Amino acid sequence: MPLSVLLDLDRLHLVAHGERHRAALARVPRPGDAITMLCGYTDLVEYTGRTADFVGVRTCWPCDLAYRRQLGLCVPPDHPGARRL
Ligand SMILES: [Zn+2]
Repeated sequence: MPLSVLLDLDRLHLVAHGERHRAALARVPRPGDAITMLCGYTDLVEYTGRTADFVGVRTCWPCDLAYRRQLGLCVPPDHPGARRL
């Protein structure tokens, strides 16, 4: 029986400029692919094993807000993403 591997695209950590973003990914991105995050920021993919890049990252609130809305999750009235849009 073959090994089954599930890649949860929602669990990929997309970090740029110290913020963790979210994107609607249809597949695992390739290095060099341009990805536009839910907040509108676009950057190229680079895979890294530098865990230090992920220490102390902040949430990109506009991405979080868009993600919550897409999934129909609760959005608190004082959500920080609503102030930045
Ligand atoms: Zn973002």
